[in-house]
Amino acid sequence: MTRPVRVRFAPSPTGPLHIGGVRTALYNYLFARKHGGTMILRIEDTDSQRFVPGAEEYINEALAWLGIGIDEGVREGGPFGPYKQSERRDIYRRHVQMLLDAGKAYIAFDTPEELEAKRAAVANFQYDAHTRGQMRNSLTLPADEVKALIDSGAKYVVRFKIEPGRDVEVNDLLRGKVVIKSDILDDKVLYKSADDLPTYHLANIVDDHLMEVSHVIRGEEWLPSAPLHVLLYEAFGWSDTAPEFVHLPLLLKPDGKGKLSKRDGDRLGFPVFPLEWHDPKSGEVSSGYRESGYLPQAVVNFLALLGWNPGDDTEVMSMDELIEKFSFEHCSRSGARFAFDKGKWFNHTYLQQLPDDELARLFTPLMEAEGVDMSAFTPEYVSRAVGSLKSRINFVKDLTEQARFYFVAPTEYAAKDVAKRWKPGTAALMRQLAELLGGLDDFSAAAAEPVVMDWIKTNELHMGNVMNAFRLAVVGECKGPHMFEITEIIGKDETIKRLLQAVDRIDEPAV
Ligand code: GLU
Repeated sequence: MTRPVRVRFAPSPTGPLHIGGVRTALYNYLFARKHGGTMILRIEDTDSQRFVPGAEEYINEALAWLGIGIDEGVREGGPFGPYKQSERRDIYRRHVQMLLDAGKAYIAFDTPEELEAKRAAVANFQYDAHTRGQMRNSLTLPADEVKALIDSGAKYVVRFKIEPGRDVEVNDLLRGKVVIKSDILDDKVLYKSADDLPTYHLANIVDDHLMEVSHVIRGEEWLPSAPLHVLLYEAFGWSDTAPEFVHLPLLLKPDGKGKLSKRDGDRLGFPVFPLEWHDPKSGEVSSGYRESGYLPQAVVNFLALLGWNPGDDTEVMSMDELIEKFSFEHCSRSGARFAFDKGKWFNHTYLQQLPDDELARLFTPLMEAEGVDMSAFTPEYVSRAVGSLKSRINFVKDLTEQARFYFVAPTEYAAKDVAKRWKPGTAALMRQLAELLGGLDDFSAAAAEPVVMDWIKTNELHMGNVMNAFRLAVVGECKGPHMFEITEIIGKDETIKRLLQAVDRIDEPAV
């Protein structure tokens, strides 16, 4: 019988979710959806020292923005709750006791100072089978002394008793079988009486077991913890239902060696967080994909391909297509270079798929923020304006500059274009052009363009000079979409008004 697919994304709320964490969440989600399984969001907040206010809300908001749906979690509820580890203390306490009772764990009283002294005295000191006999713990102290210490409120930890001389097998769906010697592992702390909380290792595997997790899909940085986790499953007698491991490859710097860091983002100008993050302590603001103008579909598609491919060279895939194609068979083991330019390309590509009215809806508030009264324009006008420029942008915000002329007539004209294009006689030509256009009943591009072309030809005018001066007058610089597309959109009156305004405002050079 194959077990139902149940996966979990298990972030610790210690700060903003890093883009690598988002990819982990996404792969969990794709795998769950692909197999009709369940996606769990578990908040691993047992490290009270590192807890950061706002981090949990940030995680929820980021996943919701990206469309990474959660089936069971703190907000969603579910039959295996609570889904926040700080609310599961009783469960962990019980499980720690189970290991103590079975002799698989022991209580240790060594103070931080004692441990420090030991580390200073013994090179490469490790708390394990070879050294635990020299330490202050329930294996070396008489039982009544242990009890007396606990009763007196002495602080203690519970350590996992790792048996030496074992070969520990970790099976990873991407990496195959990895065998390590148990001797290299130390007797990890599983629980601390000081805050009555388990450590990550214990809480993580107890929850994976109780929540019936079938696959642990997480970042490569957790691979070193896997042997310990295998031994913990075994100590509890849960090996038969232990989840499959998948350790995803690291995200690497866009350039050079090593893993992607926030500094790379700052240095090369791209966000490493899904949403903007305001650090509650330092007040520092880190940029996010959302606030930088990325569409969530583009971010999802970009991240999906960092460490996975569909088995062919298809690049643009919707969430549904990703779900359909996703499998670990085409996941790579080696690190994935974070090619952020590709992220821009995806954003460009998804913007092309956006209907013009949708683009207009995203664009309008950005223009209003720049002080432009957008209520003066019909939704249809705004849609046509942004539609004419869509193919030229990577971000909606690029339009605030590129489409501005549609909403604000130029009052200044690019000096270098004026120098090149506004020749002696240009003003007179532009006046003639205004008159010619004024006589048109049909101002569509299809009707206006041949009339103007004819006029240029008949009068043996220089096409480049006329059209560029025309553009300069209407746009303010020699840039933008096809000229007659612009004039069709802004209309006859506005076109003529701008032509005559330019004639008034731009000084012709002396002959
Ligand atoms: N709480 C760990 C983290 O912050 C979870 C690691 C795991 O998925 O096992 O990533």
